[in-house]
Amino acid sequence: MAPGQAPDDSYPPALTIAESEQILLTIKDWSIAHGLTVRPPLALVSPEVDPHGVFATTAPVTLFPSPFPRVCFDQAKSIQKAYNQLYASIAQDESFLESIVQEILAVDEFIAKLWQVHLKVKEEGYVQNLSLGLFRSDYMVHQDDDDPETSPAIKQVEFNTIASSFGGLSIKTSNLHKFLSISDYPLLEKPISTNAMDLPENTSTQSLATGLRFAFDTYTKSAPNRNCCIIFLVQDPERNIFDQRHLEYELRTHKTPVPVFRLPFAQILSQTTVASTPKRELLYHLPSNPKQTFEVAVVYFRAGYGPQDYPDTTAWQARLHIERSNAIKCPTILTQLAGAKKVQQVLATPKSLEPSMLNRFMAASPSDLEDIQKTFTNIFPFDSSPAGLDARKLALDPNRCKGYVLKPQREGGGNNVYRTAIPTFLQSLPETHWKSYILMEIITPPPVYNLILRNGVIERGGVICELGVYGACVWDQKTKEVIYNEEAGYLLRTKGDKSEEGGVAAGFGAMDSCRLV
Ligand code: ADP
Ligand code: MG
Ligand code: MG
Repeated sequence: MAPGQAPDDSYPPALTIAESEQILLTIKDWSIAHGLTVRPPLALVSPEVDPHGVFATTAPVTLFPSPFPRVCFDQAKSIQKAYNQLYASIAQDESFLESIVQEILAVDEFIAKLWQVHLKVKEEGYVQNLSLGLFRSDYMVHQDDDDPETSPAIKQVEFNTIASSFGGLSIKTSNLHKFLSISDYPLLEKPISTNAMDLPENTSTQSLATGLRFAFDTYTKSAPNRNCCIIFLVQDPERNIFDQRHLEYELRTHKTPVPVFRLPFAQILSQTTVASTPKRELLYHLPSNPKQTFEVAVVYFRAGYGPQDYPDTTAWQARLHIERSNAIKCPTILTQLAGAKKVQQVLATPKSLEPSMLNRFMAASPSDLEDIQKTFTNIFPFDSSPAGLDARKLALDPNRCKGYVLKPQREGGGNNVYRTAIPTFLQSLPETHWKSYILMEIITPPPVYNLILRNGVIERGGVICELGVYGACVWDQKTKEVIYNEEAGYLLRTKGDKSEEGGVAAGFGAMDSCRLV
């Protein structure tokens, strides 16, 4: 039996070579036909081969939807609105965020610079009180055979408050697997009948677009008769462009279409201006026709979450330019900082901080608080507090470190240090910098077996699945009122169980969908 394969090896069924080729053919064509696509990696298609950038390829996907416990799926979906509310409250709590930021400012220049932008705008006075959050809370299934009462259950990997991606592709993956369940799976030698699969609805694209639309509509109510738009702030080049395009098309082809423009982060200052009015409207000048100007109602960040987008001081001026404008930001700097891993650690480490920080934000809803707390796994500070010093001992111990992952305050994948690599990494890092990390217990989900199609090649074996639930939330920073709060669909990402990181864009993981069991 292959590692990770379920004892009952009937799912996914063993495939003959001819069967896997047939499924591959279906996936290849369905994916291209429906936009379950990415731009090809440079290693596969060089600019000499594709000088005009017209090539696209299939996104990595699993051949079958992975089995996922229904109780865990329901649990993750049902707490999303409470999570939205929690992070909206954190984003409103400047003094809490300040206390977090102060601890790491001196050794994390990126966080320090974000905070400086916030302070500058605060000094001048924020003009826009509304904030939009398009969040994604990520989990893995935790199984404790000694505790069947509370298991399986979900444990949170992280909470994303900026550039939460794949909402445009995850729905396509759900649809691909639904299509395979009527086209190919019933025809296998070991057939799966169409009715046998419980494939939940996924609404990620529409739901995220509805969140953007709500923010847009709220803005335009106070700006009637103006030519308003939404800006998608993007990296350039962007391999994951179609994920973003699906959201854009959803907004543009609606019965009341919203103009959406893609703006590379590096071109903010050349293509937008902030009006010299008390309102500081953000104006977008269409590069193809500079006479066409739009007032920007919403700026949706799909860039700007990491230092790579800020190569020089101009980039920081650009971030300030957006932040001080009247556009509704998704996210604001404060919302971005609320998603710092350090915040997650502080929320999850109640024992060292009495009363629990969760109480500060959720005292009014004790049952939500309890539900959220259940999703936490052990996360330790890595500073010089007693809990931090204990964590340091743990991380430096060549045996005990095997159960942990060390995380900096970064997003986008590829930044963490895992297991036995931790001690050597720490030794290479000045001790003064250690406090900008957090130490988290590794979640080990029960073994699942699947096949992944990546760059035309099928990989098979044990896999690890990570469920993400999207949330859309709009709140008023001044009145503290949440005026929109919805759960917004799901994402399942799957990686080989030998790989530590699971990011699809980072090249490690694959798109998947849930078969509820
Ligand atoms: P990022 O913000 O860069 O996505 P994450 O915290 O999501 O950072 O970590 C990246 C990846 O590392 C996750 O997608 C997951 O595959 C793996 N990972 C992170 N934390 C854990 C954990 N506690 N247990 C198991 N895997 C983890
Ligand atoms: Mg993240
Ligand atoms: Mg992540």
